[in-house]
Amino acid sequence: MPARQDIGDLESLLRKKGLKVTTTRVNILRLLKTKHTPQCLETIAHALGAKCDQATIYRNLRDFHRTGILEAHVFGDKKTWYALAPHGNGHSHYLRCISCNRTIDIGNCDWNFLNSEVEKTYKFKNVAHQLEFTGLCPRCHKAPKSGH
Ligand SMILES: [Zn+2]
Ligand SMILES: [Zn+2]
Repeated sequence: MPARQDIGDLESLLRKKGLKVTTTRVNILRLLKTKHTPQCLETIAHALGAKCDQATIYRNLRDFHRTGILEAHVFGDKKTWYALAPHGNGHSHYLRCISCNRTIDIGNCDWNFLNSEVEKTYKFKNVAHQLEFTGLCPRCHKAPKSGH
């Protein structure tokens, strides 16, 4: 059970971003806070059960992403995976196994210097980047293929 303190934090985060505090929004953020890897719309909807419909969750996820509460990650499976953005300026990158979908947080980004180089070269402002890693995890590249 999350402490009341946590819920208070999430509520003030919503207010700080100019979003109305609703039960659905708090539920989504609370769920993502307990997960250590990004979640997609389906897994979030599944975890929240009958409490809210997918369209509402989807709309809220987009609001969260737009306001910087969530980071969105795309791993080439045509889905968007969401994770709470770390406080401050840092963000994480993830490594995903293309065989079993295991996802590992590989820590804070060291590549923000790329943003300023791109800004300088192309005279853009507020440049951000998305960078995801995929591959085969040790369990999957060692496992002998079972013949089917
Ligand atoms: Zn794997
Ligand atoms: Zn980065």
